[in-house]
Amino acid sequence: MIKKIDHIAVAVRDVEKAAEFYEKVFGLKLGGVEEVEGMGVKVGFIPIGDTRIELVQPLDPESGLAKFIERKGEGIHHICYEVDDIQKALETYKTRGAKLIDESPRKGAHHSLVGFIHPKSTGGVLTELTQPTES
Ligand code: ZN
Repeated sequence: MIKKIDHIAVAVRDVEKAAEFYEKVFGLKLGGVEEVEGMGVKVGFIPIGDTRIELVQPLDPESGLAKFIERKGEGIHHICYEVDDIQKALETYKTRGAKLIDESPRKGAHHSLVGFIHPKSTGGVLTELTQPTES
C-alpha cells in the first residue's frame, strides 16, 4: 500500500532562508514554493532523487507548526508516505491501531490529498500519507 517516502518535512522559521543553507552546504536546489490553503503553512520542496525534503514554515502563529517550533525549535517535523488509495489507507491503519488526525483526506500541496496520523500512535513520528491526484 505504501509506495515510497514522498518527503521528509523539516519545520523552519523561513523557507527561503533555510533553502539557502541547503543550497550553500549540500548543493541542493529549492524546486518550488507554495502556500497551502487552509493549512496555514508555506512549503518549499527540495527534490532529491525520487523523494524530497519539504521545508514547512508556519504562517499562522496559532498553528500547531508554530507551536512545534516554539517548543522544540526548527527540525524534523514529519515523514510522508505515498499511498495509492489514501482513504483506504487511513481506514486500514485505523483498524490496526493508528490514531488519525484526519479521518478523511484533505487537500495538500501540489494538488495532492493528504491525511495525518498522530505521533502518539506511531512511536513519536508525526506521519503524513499522500495520494497524488495528478502527475
Ligand atoms: Zn508533508
